[in-house]
Amino acid sequence: MMVGLTGTPGTGKSSVAAELERRGHRVVHLVDTVQPYILEEDRARQTMVVDTDRWVAGFEPVDGIIEGHLAHLIPCDLVVVLRCRPDVLRRRLEVRGYPGAKIAENVEAEALDLILIETLDEHPAEHVLEVDTTDLSIEDCAGLVERFISGELPPSCGSID
Ligand code: ADP
Ligand code: MN
Repeated sequence: MMVGLTGTPGTGKSSVAAELERRGHRVVHLVDTVQPYILEEDRARQTMVVDTDRWVAGFEPVDGIIEGHLAHLIPCDLVVVLRCRPDVLRRRLEVRGYPGAKIAENVEAEALDLILIETLDEHPAEHVLEVDTTDLSIEDCAGLVERFISGELPPSCGSID
């Protein structure tokens, strides 16, 4: 089974993935797979422009968790969308030292449910779990992901509030 772990930067994908890896899950970091598909560097936005169509087409399915903010574009069996209240997300990105424009862009994307909307464009609602990380520990977030994978926790899509 292939499980996508997606979310706006700062929602906790890397942290939750590291905890899941510690618990014995196989984890693939998508940032390690995009290199051959980089079209250009967007210097102003301090980000890489990826040929996502070719990247998705070339992605070899894995039995495990794939982590990254493009994970929902891969045809996974299940997708977990990490969320964070925008004011808290802003603080997490400030601590990380992101430039102001990049913080604003990501905080706005999170407030507009952008990744969730993209996820539901690609996957049926019953394959999607939203996890609000705002007031949860990384361990608790990982626990919810495990319960969703095992079928113990129902999907939660649509419950944005
Ligand atoms: P992402 O990989 O989605 O960009 P990270 O895992 O790198 O997110 O986390 C971004 C920042 O937010 C880090 O400083 C991390 O310690 C913090 N963080 C992540 N998840 C939580 C959480 N559940 N509670 C508090 N802080 C968190
Ligand atoms: Mn990350």
